[in-house]
Amino acid sequence: MTKFSRDNSSVVVVIGSGASGAVVANSLAQRGIDVVCFEAGRRLLPQDIVNDESKMFGRFTWLDERIGSGNALANFPVWNCKTVGGTTMHWTATSLRMQPHELQARSTYGEIENTNLVDWPFDYAELEPWYENAESRMGVTGTHGIARLPGNNNYKVLEAGARKLGYSQINTNNLAINSKQREGRPACLQLGFCTSGCVIGAKWSTLYTEIPQAEATGHFELRTESMVVGVRHNTKGKIVAVDYLGADGQIRSQSLRVLIVGGNVVETTRLLLNSPSRMFPEGLANSSGMLGKNYMRHVLAGVVGLMPGQVNLHRGTHQAGLVMDERGHDPQRGFAGGILFLTVPFAPDTLARLLLPGAWGDRITSVLERYDHLAAMLVHGEDMAQESNMISLHPSRKDRYGLPVPIIHYEDHPNSKRILSYALDRGRKIYESLGAEQTFAMVDVFPATHNMGTARMGTDASISVCNPRGQAHDIENLFICDGSVFPSVGCENPTLTIVALALRQAEYVAGQMAINAI
Ligand SMILES: Cc1cc2nc3c(=O)[nH]c(=O)nc-3n(C[C@H](O)[C@H](O)[C@H](O)COP(=O)(O)OP(=O)(O)OC[C@H]3O[C@@H](n4cnc5c(N)ncnc54)[C@H](O)[C@@H]3O)c2cc1C
Ligand code: SF4
Repeated sequence: MTKFSRDNSSVVVVIGSGASGAVVANSLAQRGIDVVCFEAGRRLLPQDIVNDESKMFGRFTWLDERIGSGNALANFPVWNCKTVGGTTMHWTATSLRMQPHELQARSTYGEIENTNLVDWPFDYAELEPWYENAESRMGVTGTHGIARLPGNNNYKVLEAGARKLGYSQINTNNLAINSKQREGRPACLQLGFCTSGCVIGAKWSTLYTEIPQAEATGHFELRTESMVVGVRHNTKGKIVAVDYLGADGQIRSQSLRVLIVGGNVVETTRLLLNSPSRMFPEGLANSSGMLGKNYMRHVLAGVVGLMPGQVNLHRGTHQAGLVMDERGHDPQRGFAGGILFLTVPFAPDTLARLLLPGAWGDRITSVLERYDHLAAMLVHGEDMAQESNMISLHPSRKDRYGLPVPIIHYEDHPNSKRILSYALDRGRKIYESLGAEQTFAMVDVFPATHNMGTARMGTDASISVCNPRGQAHDIENLFICDGSVFPSVGCENPTLTIVALALRQAEYVAGQMAINAI
């Protein structure tokens, strides 16, 4: 097992072992660059991963206090993981590219009141080869000749209803889940516990892929249960070390040459905001005042149909079902941006809590008794950047690390409300067209699962935090590799784009190190 000394100032430090951090770290290690990766969570062993959603929730979810305000859930505003593999242990593996026009949000949608819309600092052609690379690396079905997964009954209901509405772009999704054995990992067995970690490793998680590959290079050390709590710089404004809290409660520091932060938006933003100094009084990389602002998630709600026949939605791969017809930008619908409809299997306990919040007795039991007749989908739409949606630090409240508790403030933009109303109507009609006895909308009940935008990329340092490579404008050896750098979000799930950007960033960092520019 490779180990680097704590005073080794030639290493690249990567914070986080999830989709972004592990991909950057592995890409650098494969190029012979020494990397120390810090992960706040522990490494689960195969025997720790069980097909049980509530047990796994307790084992890998980030449960330290966060405060939600506005439309964000008050006690659990954001859902992500603290474990080796990060939230790729929990994700459902939908891996879609953003569309070219979504990278040009400001130019395409024009000025929308109370938004802070911008274009990405590069176009789709720049990102395309990295998408190719990411899909191939992750084994995404429906790309590179990789067969799609079969559809379960929940998919068949979605497909039949969508066709009745005239939709035609329907398939079992692009998933980073093996449809055939690939690179030492087995094919999906349709067990239906994708969010419990996929014990057989058919689903791409960095625990099974990037981390062991990086370890095999001899250029990578993973420090688990090691929470980075502070970042230090020298008098020239260059980052020189991080402070971290180990499982034994001791604070230590690690010297470094380059720092790359991939803590998944809330933690990335908190760490940088919480590292102020005389030189950087508003936090690191925050001379624009934009760090923490423009926080985006996606418009997200559930639609459930009580169908005339048995569905057994819990069987099979969670998200192997997608309708793409509403994905484009069509102002005729009365809003900007697109919508996806995706299958989802809500567990009985989730439905008991969230389907009809507050309902009691026959009203809810009459539905739950017919769990096997339920079909369900998520509706998923584009969110608009608003400067007032932000992540900030609580002025006095501290968590168990002694760090200020993050406050996640999010309010729906009127455009999002219009997307939601349209999408819920179409979602309900998909089930009604097949004779659903009842349909239900689950609105404002989910925490954010996709987080983006608090350290956006741009070429103008007065309105963005990072340059187009995710390098902080203010600090040349500080990089951000997670969804914080997204200037806009499209309607697609973000992780494929995060991985594509991480691969692109790793190439840049390696090139800059080779010429001693950083
Ligand atoms: C239920 C659910 C379903 C999802 N399904 C999909 C999907 O189908 N498709 C999709 O595209 N996306 C999906 N996502 C989102 C996806 O999981 C994330 O986009 C992705 O994992 C983000 O990668 P990341 O590296 O930024 O963060 P993560 O994967 O969350 O990794 C961040 C890691 O950093 C560690 N960390 C944070 N701060 C520190 C610190 N200070 N010191 C040390 N370690 C730290 C954390 O412990 C964590 O392990 C889903 C998310 C959820 C919750
Ligand atoms: S359905 Fe497939 S991807 Fe999901 S847990 Fe089972 S084997 Fe893994």
